[in-house]
Amino acid sequence: MGLHKICKHKGRARDRCKHAWWGSFRGRRVSLSKWTNREIKSKAEADKALDELTAAIRDGTFDERGIDPPADNSPMTFGKFAEVYKQRHVLAKGLALSTTVDYRLKPLIERFGERPIAEIKTLTSTTSSRT
Ligand SMILES: [Zn+2]
Repeated sequence: MGLHKICKHKGRARDRCKHAWWGSFRGRRVSLSKWTNREIKSKAEADKALDELTAAIRDGTFDERGIDPPADNSPMTFGKFAEVYKQRHVLAKGLALSTTVDYRLKPLIERFGERPIAEIKTLTSTTSSRT
C-alpha cells in the first residue's frame, strides 16, 4: 500500500514534481488523478485520493475505470434495481423475505431485467391513468 511516482525524481523534489501520483493497495495500482478524475497538485491531495482508493478496495466497490465508473451513467434497469434492492433492503435487514427473494424476483428479472426503470415507470403510470 502506498503512494508512488513513476519518474526519476527523489525525496522532496519528487513530492513537488509534476509527474502523476500513483496509489497502490492490495495489488491494485491506479493513477490517482485519472482514477479520481481530478487534479492532484500536492502530496496531501494524493494522500486523500489514496484513502478513497483503499476505502473502495476494502468495501469491494473498487472499479479501475475510476471512482465514478462510466457504467453508472447507463440507465438503471429493472435487473440492476432488483439487485440493489435485494442487497440494501432485503439482505441487509435480514427480512424473512430473504429466503424467497431470488425465487420471487427471478421471473420479473427474466421478463424486465434489461428494461430501464424509467420506461417501466412510464408504462405503469399510463396504465394507472386509464383506470
Ligand atoms: Zn517527477
